[in-house]
This record gives sequence, structure tokens and C-alpha cells, in this order.
Amino acid sequence: MTSLWADQLGPDQIDVPPRAPLTGDADYDVAIVGGGLTGLWTAYYLAPHARVVVLEAEHVGFGASGRNGGWCSALFPASLESLAALGGSSRTAALAQHQAMVASVAEVGRAAEAEGIDCDFAAGGTVVLARSAAQLERARDEVAHARSWGLDQPTLLDADQATARLAATRVIGGTFTPDCAALQPMRLVAGLARACERRGVVIHEHSPVRRIEPGLVQTDGGTVRAGSVIRATEGYTAQLPDTRREVAPVYSLVIATEPLPDQLWEQIGLRQRETFSEHRHLIVYGQRTADGRLVFGGRGAPYHAGSRIRPEFDHEPRVFARLRETLVDLLPVLAGTRITHAWGGALGIPRDWCASVGLDPATGLGWAGGYVGDGVSTTNLAGRTLRDLVLGESTALTGLPWVNHRSPRWEPEPLRWLGINAGLRAMTLADVEERVTRRSSVVARMMRPLVS
Ligand SMILES: Cc1cc2nc3c(=O)[nH]c(=O)nc-3n(C[C@H](O)[C@H](O)[C@H](O)COP(=O)(O)OP(=O)(O)OC[C@H]3O[C@@H](n4cnc5c(N)ncnc54)[C@H](O)[C@@H]3O)c2cc1C
Repeated sequence: MTSLWADQLGPDQIDVPPRAPLTGDADYDVAIVGGGLTGLWTAYYLAPHARVVVLEAEHVGFGASGRNGGWCSALFPASLESLAALGGSSRTAALAQHQAMVASVAEVGRAAEAEGIDCDFAAGGTVVLARSAAQLERARDEVAHARSWGLDQPTLLDADQATARLAATRVIGGTFTPDCAALQPMRLVAGLARACERRGVVIHEHSPVRRIEPGLVQTDGGTVRAGSVIRATEGYTAQLPDTRREVAPVYSLVIATEPLPDQLWEQIGLRQRETFSEHRHLIVYGQRTADGRLVFGGRGAPYHAGSRIRPEFDHEPRVFARLRETLVDLLPVLAGTRITHAWGGALGIPRDWCASVGLDPATGLGWAGGYVGDGVSTTNLAGRTLRDLVLGESTALTGLPWVNHRSPRWEPEPLRWLGINAGLRAMTLADVEERVTRRSSVVARMMRPLVS
């Protein structure tokens, strides 16, 4: 089934006929492999300064960038402590990275407006509900942790304040941060691709890259020679030779309801189109769309041995059913609501859960990715950073801790399959354990060193 986002593209946003594949050899300053948000933001910021080509295996937005939950947030997958501990880093540098993430949310909104991209951007913040004592304890810990770093977000909500934002069942508190916008991701990608082309970027679709080497990118139709080559393949990176163990593709699945009538929205809330989640262990995420639907997603689909990615893995009826069940448990008024769309996609997880961006000046090879499901705004930061790195400029962005960080490689199979799926199961189990025992999960505590 097509995603809601692809289904909603207006006729002027659908790229029919598709952009031509690469045929023949060509020379550019920069060749970018992958037409998702990483590749397109990089091309966008570089374009006035360099001749740029983007090579995309399918079509722009085919990957996670066109399928995600539409949270454009300041979340970064690694903790401030981990960022401060990266080689040569510091607490100040970790905080600078956090501020750069906050600024990236605003920059996505600014660029979309400047380029006339109608992607339903609404900076309504995020509410995360606490619906058990253990979840409330985690909410309090999160706020205390932020304060210990001198940050004034998120704030703690009591039951009334949280319910006023999202009137779910059993709410006893929560947290709120203003640093997030809801958006329609496929419209963002499609509009960004057009903005890149207006700046002179050449985009070839249906041009899978078979090999990346310093100064050279090979496709079936031709070879591109370029001073800099950027790998922007995120969850698909394992499919390229030489990078099979760099990130593990893990699936996230999403459902969307039919548009809800106004009187239901009066009961539910989300009046500022806040994105929402819950302080549970297995990640769930939701947004109220501009046309009044609820989009709700979560992890829980299995990792597939050998880091395989297949169209059929986007559809896990068991996970779709569980998402619906979870949504109705939060909002019983949705019990009779029709689910019109259900889809999924692969996101990239590095072994140390820390996204990175970088460029080796000796080879001209660059990369960005491993966003662990927090990529919508992080790709923008990556694109601006890659611009500076490619142009050889030393800026505040190129000094951030994640720049040139190298995550360790994943274990070979079958250890990778065993470890990742054990982690995913443990998070489900931890939520069940907390429901039954009404205490913080022991399983989650044991798994924490592996997943943070
Ligand atoms: C279901 C789901 C929900 C998510 N929800 C959120 C969210 O709400 N908020 C958030 O911040 N993040 C979310 N994420 C993560 C976010 O979408 C990604 O981190 C981000 O889109 C990554 O962008 P990207 O351009 O690096 O990768 P992608 O968008 O995956 O793009 C990679 C592109 O490379 C192409 N490609 C791969 N191999 C080759 C090759 N050999 N040659 C040429 N092209 C190639 C692919 O076809 C693809 O188009 C979600 C992810 C998923 C899957």
C-alpha cells in the first residue's frame, strides 16, 4: 500500500515522467549517492558553489525521507554525555550540537518557506505522555537531566496540562518541548528536489550506484567523475560493497486514519498540531496532519538477517494491528475509525547509536547518516555541514562532535540478527513488565548499555 504522504502529492508535485537515468559518463564537482533528505539538503546548500549531481536508485523520496512520521525535531540519537565523550569533545561542544539541532528545526521551516514548499510545516512542539508511575519517573528524570545540562526544555506537565494537549486515557503527566514541527515529508522531499534543480543541480533517478571510489561513482548507465563523492544512502548503506556492516536497517511502520471530524478533534486535542509520543520503551510517534488525520507509527518489526531490505518487509500485519490497538488504547474514540493507509520503511542504526557526518579530505569521500529515526531535521544539519566540509571551510558546524565520528562496525551475522532482534523484543517486554509490576523495568535497565 502506498504511504499517505505519496498519495497526497498533488499533480504538480508528482514527477511524471520520472527524471532521466544517467546515460554516459560525466564530470561534476560533487556526486551525491541517494536522493533522500541527506542527499538533497547537501545538494541544495552546495549548489550555488559547485556543480552537483544526485544519483538516486529509485525516485527522490523513495527511502525513509518520503515515508517517515513527519517529526522535524531537535532530537539527536546520542545522549549529551555520549557526545561530550566523543574524541576531543567537551560538554560545551555537546551543548553546541544540541543548539544546532534546535536551529535545524527552524532552518527546515525557513528553507521550505523561502522555496515555496507547501509541506504543512507546523511548529507545535512535542507532548510525550506518562501513563504509568514508571513512565512518570522517566519523564521526571528526563527533565532533571536537561536541567543538569542547563537546558530549560523539556518541561514537566501534570495530568491536567498533558491531557489539555492530548486527551488520552490514563494520563498522569508528561513532558513538553517546543522544539519540534509536524510536516508532510513527501511534499518536503519533492519540493526540495525541485528547489535543487532550480539552483542547477542535476538529479538522475533510476540510477542505482554499483560502486563508490575516490573521485568516481559507477552506475549501469555510466560513470561520474567528481572531486567529492557523498554517500547519502542511510538504511540502504549495507547494500553497497565495502559498507555492509556500517549501519543496520531497522524497520519502522506507520498507519494513518481517515480524516477525523472536528467534533472528534475537539475531544482529542493536539490543537497546535503537536507531535506526540509516550514515555514507553518501544518507540511510538504520532502527528495530527493538516487534513485532520492521525498518523501513528512505531518500531517492533523484526530486523532481517543480512541487513536485507525488501518491499514486502514494509508490510507486517501483526505490527499494523498492534499499532492500531495501541492507538485505540490511547484514544478509545478512534475505535470505529477507518485506517486508510499502512506502510513502513528502513532507517539506519549505527553500532553505537550515534549519527555521523564527515568527509575525508585525502580521498574526497564523504557520508552522513545513522540517524536512528531522528533524521528529518538532522539531515538538514548534515547537508549544511557537508557543504562546509566539501568547500574546505572551517565553521561552527564542522567543529560539532558528530563530525568525522566513526561508529564501530556491526557484528557479522548471525550475531547481528540475534542482538538487534533481542533488543527489539526486550523493549516490548519492558513495557509489558511495567504494566504488570507498575515499576520501572528491570529488562530495560539491563538493555540500556546496548541501546544508548
Ligand atoms: C517509518 C519511518 C518513520 C520515521 N519517522 C521519523 C520522524 O518522524 N522524524 C525523524 O526525524 N525521522 C524519522 N525517520 C527517520 C528519517 O526518515 C530518516 O532518518 C531520514 O529520512 C534519512 O534520510 P536519508 O536521505 O539519509 O535516507 P533515505 O531517505 O533513506 O534516502 C536514501 C536514498 O538512497 C537511495 N539509494 C540507496 N542505495 C542507493 C544506490 N546504491 N544508488 C543510488 N541511490 C541509492 C535510496 O533509494 C533512498 O532514496 C523515520 C524513518 C522511517 C523509516
